[in-house]
Amino acid sequence: MGDYTDLHGAEQSFGDTEAQRAVRENDRQYVFHSWSAQGQIDPLPIAKGEGVRFWDYDGTEYLDFSSQLVNLNLGHQHPGLVRAIQEQAGRLATIQPAMANDVRGELAKRIVEHSFDGARSVFFTNGGADANEYAVRMARHHTGRQKVLARYRSYHGSTSTAITLTGEPRRWANGTLDSGIVHFFGPYPYRSAFYAETPEQETERALAHLRQTIELEGPSTIAAIILESVTGTNGILIPTPGYLEGVRALCDEHGILLIADEVMAGFGRTGEWFAFQAFDVQPDLVTFAKGVNSGYVPLGGVVISEAIHETFADKPFPGGLTYSGHPLGAAAGVATFDIFAEEGILERVKDLGERVVGPRLREMAEKHPSVGEVRGTGLFWAIELVIDRETREPLVPFNAAGAAGAPFAKVVAACKAAGLWPFAAGNRLQVAPPLIISEEDLRAGLDIIDAALDVADAEAA
Ligand code: PLP
Repeated sequence: MGDYTDLHGAEQSFGDTEAQRAVRENDRQYVFHSWSAQGQIDPLPIAKGEGVRFWDYDGTEYLDFSSQLVNLNLGHQHPGLVRAIQEQAGRLATIQPAMANDVRGELAKRIVEHSFDGARSVFFTNGGADANEYAVRMARHHTGRQKVLARYRSYHGSTSTAITLTGEPRRWANGTLDSGIVHFFGPYPYRSAFYAETPEQETERALAHLRQTIELEGPSTIAAIILESVTGTNGILIPTPGYLEGVRALCDEHGILLIADEVMAGFGRTGEWFAFQAFDVQPDLVTFAKGVNSGYVPLGGVVISEAIHETFADKPFPGGLTYSGHPLGAAAGVATFDIFAEEGILERVKDLGERVVGPRLREMAEKHPSVGEVRGTGLFWAIELVIDRETREPLVPFNAAGAAGAPFAKVVAACKAAGLWPFAAGNRLQVAPPLIISEEDLRAGLDIIDAALDVADAEAA
């Protein structure tokens, strides 16, 4: 047996520098990459993945602490997911959305049963951005209103409405493709936009700010408020006590719908099926993607309330996608629910978060002067790096969201050199390994981060 199988089905061994070079060369010549200056990137060629690890063609092994793009919740090549896709492909590889299909219906049923009170149905999309597009479209048709309020420090995807909903630098170069979107600030105690000194004060002031935003924008013009239940890429921001409940109350007061973007936080990342379930709040629409099937086949969707579903009972919903509810993606989604139950995923995520990650990161915060704050829940954590703890000046400038700008690049390089693939965003090292990670691997990865923070300390000093 070789180390991996190539695209011709041949067994190959690691250490083949020529294969590494050939893959890199083809990619450089013909693949146009996301969010990058094409001449300035050098993507790592990956030959094989298994569980929480992947390997390049030379055989260099990486422990994945970012779950790819926080989608690989069940790890690489999970036998249950691979089997479900293979069986489905052997039976019925694709079927158009207007026809009924067993796995599509079964997945929709399970998602409805595990989401919010009053959830009625699921509209399937190809991923997260289009899920948010469709949630907004439904909200607008349902309410007859056009405006949508979204938060700063959010990422909602890169299609036209989704990128305009986004409240961080990735929106800038894309202008305002959807003119009905208004941004507001949410709670972020470490960098409070409201000069709050306690989480409770942050909640109160963030809600007062939202109330004023609604009043000045015109409550009767606002269809929906969209928010990430727990903010992901922009810093693992957990809602302060009472905040989500307060947003819900404001929505109810003004007939505004609440859309929970669970694309990154959903499907177990926080130890709940959906992150909002840790709070006393029920949204009207929930968007999901990534963890629904660990990204093995592109799939996303919108969970729809009974009331919104009813709006389209007699009038047609104006929208659809050729691959909506793709059977291969849906089969992997149904298998995801089975695997979560068999492997006790939610319970282990909560346990590992509380018992291993939280305490260890708090220890690192004590030890490393470059750590401004650590925060998180489940297997979803952020280490916020600063130049100076007093001033809280970030280790890299704010507008470097997503990119590992110098001097942070050195910290990232230290992780990679030690065999850890980190999740770096802005001035943060984020911790989001596959949910199946063993305690031993988790502790080993955290050790590597601890050592890399020495590099951050040197840069901060
Ligand atoms: N919403 C959130 C919270 C996300 O994190 C992402 C992607 O990272 C998206 C939406 C967009 O999802 P996709 O890349 O599948 O379009």
